[in-house]
Amino acid sequence: MKEEIAQFHQLCSLIPAMTKKGEHIYIYNEKDKIDLFLCALTHGNETIGIYILNCLLKNPKLFEDLSIGFALLNTEAALQGKRFVERDLNRCFSFTTHTAEDQIAKEIAPWLQKSKVVLDLHQTQEDSLSPFYIFDYSEKQHAFAESLGMKIPIIASVGEFDPLGMPLEEYASSQGATALTIELGKRGFNQERMEIGAQICINCMELLQGEKFPRIKLEPLWMDHYYSYDGRELMPGLKNLQFVKEGELIGENLTAPHDAALIFPNYNKEEGKIMVRFARSDKKKGA
Ligand SMILES: [Zn+2]
Repeated sequence: MKEEIAQFHQLCSLIPAMTKKGEHIYIYNEKDKIDLFLCALTHGNETIGIYILNCLLKNPKLFEDLSIGFALLNTEAALQGKRFVERDLNRCFSFTTHTAEDQIAKEIAPWLQKSKVVLDLHQTQEDSLSPFYIFDYSEKQHAFAESLGMKIPIIASVGEFDPLGMPLEEYASSQGATALTIELGKRGFNQERMEIGAQICINCMELLQGEKFPRIKLEPLWMDHYYSYDGRELMPGLKNLQFVKEGELIGENLTAPHDAALIFPNYNKEEGKIMVRFARSDKKKGA
């Protein structure tokens, strides 16, 4: 990880019109409004984003007409091979606590406020049948995901995502940005998923520079239920986007509440932590 982080800083320093802003952020071609803001290492052990950013930074022609931000966020956690050091950075955007991660959230928040589009690159703890977009639902963000021209499922979150605090993407969209979290499969390096992530970013850059892609219709899956750890356990081997039927056994004394795709199965048992989420194809009334 050390080399990749060093390479990121080196590549940024070689690009004219790139300015370093604090410890974690570079802005290319700074304007009042930043066209696109790309985030990697929001979770320190989801490292694919750094490979994607380094790949893009080797080709600055891709974004020469844009004002664009590049952020490597939780590098300290990445160096330790951990999701975070003190607190999940992706729950720090309610600004209610005072940890190392809260400092990073405060550093990046003004840039998110100035950005038109924000892409936050993540990976999941467990395997995923496909990469997916996940975001706090709005028609604007849905249309934007479709305009990126990639056939990638949308997981729509409605209302509060996690009582522990606000994620980066939800904060950015609350500040007016079009913001998507992109989940690129299980943690660790994967060439194919890296290329898909890079392609999404490249399409986004081209779109913002006037290119049009054939619009791809994407029907969101709507997240509603989740189960938290309460002494029960998930069945091993569950994957993101795996489809389960209502009543299907997914653990000990644990059944699916309705026909759904599983999202973020999490085997790090901790009382009160979310164990798995469910996303349905029909938007429930009032959801
Ligand atoms: Zn993540």
